[in-house]
Amino acid sequence: MSSPVTAFDSCSRLSAHLAFGTVSIREVSHACERRRQEIKQLPRGMKGKWPSAIRSFSGRLRWHCHFMQKLEDEPRIEFENMHPDYDGLRENGFNELFFEAWKAGKTGYPMVDACMRALTSTGWLNFRMRAMIMSFASYHLWLHWRRPALHLAKLFTDYEPGIHYSQAQMQSGTTGINTIRIYNPIKQGVDHDPEGNFYPSLDS
Ligand SMILES: Cc1cc2nc3c(=O)[nH]c(=O)nc-3n(C[C@H](O)[C@H](O)[C@H](O)COP(=O)(O)OP(=O)(O)OC[C@H]3O[C@@H](n4cnc5c(N)ncnc54)[C@H](O)[C@@H]3O)c2cc1C
Repeated sequence: MSSPVTAFDSCSRLSAHLAFGTVSIREVSHACERRRQEIKQLPRGMKGKWPSAIRSFSGRLRWHCHFMQKLEDEPRIEFENMHPDYDGLRENGFNELFFEAWKAGKTGYPMVDACMRALTSTGWLNFRMRAMIMSFASYHLWLHWRRPALHLAKLFTDYEPGIHYSQAQMQSGTTGINTIRIYNPIKQGVDHDPEGNFYPSLDS
């Protein structure tokens, strides 16, 4: 799930359906519970990694609802830093050149550019790579999160404001409640696409 090379096939890809309501979270949750019960009946040696996979999947379904509720409770997080101590940090000096390069997938960092181009042509990207491109915009390019978040919102076929703005702020370090995490775009390439299979395929 972490590598963009395999994620397009190994993630559930339910997000756009959940965002548009073509599949309900209740339906997915029930199917997940049915699968959990089936796995429970399997002999011990046959369960493999399924129990932990189902557990983390159902955890993500709960996050979905949690973050949507959070935006309902606090709609200002679409526009303002979640923690006001970060006000003024990146508001001045937005670098338009950097922003345009980031949007076009022309920053010169292969993994960042490949992810942006993949997203632009498919409308989807796995979690880790979404986090990396957002973190890259906020930390490496020092862009305020709001305009990059709006750009990603236009590209994601699964755009869900509740999840989106919380994540944009988390990956930009402005929530005041999450550990600050800065993704190293070179290390992500080495760890998740060591053969460079992901980005050359985008040339075609
Ligand atoms: C900057 C950024 C922006 C994001 N914006 C969106 C968005 O607009 N819409 C969106 O649906 N997801 C968003 N995500 C969360 C996540 O990346 C996607 O939900 C996931 O990649 C969708 O693929 P999937 O359906 O195969 O997920 P799976 O891993 O199969 O998960 C199943 C479902 O759980 C929910 N889910 C998964 N991860 C998360 C999470 N971290 N927080 C809340 N719910 C989650 C989704 O509804 C997803 O469809 C964002 C993540 C980041 C880092």
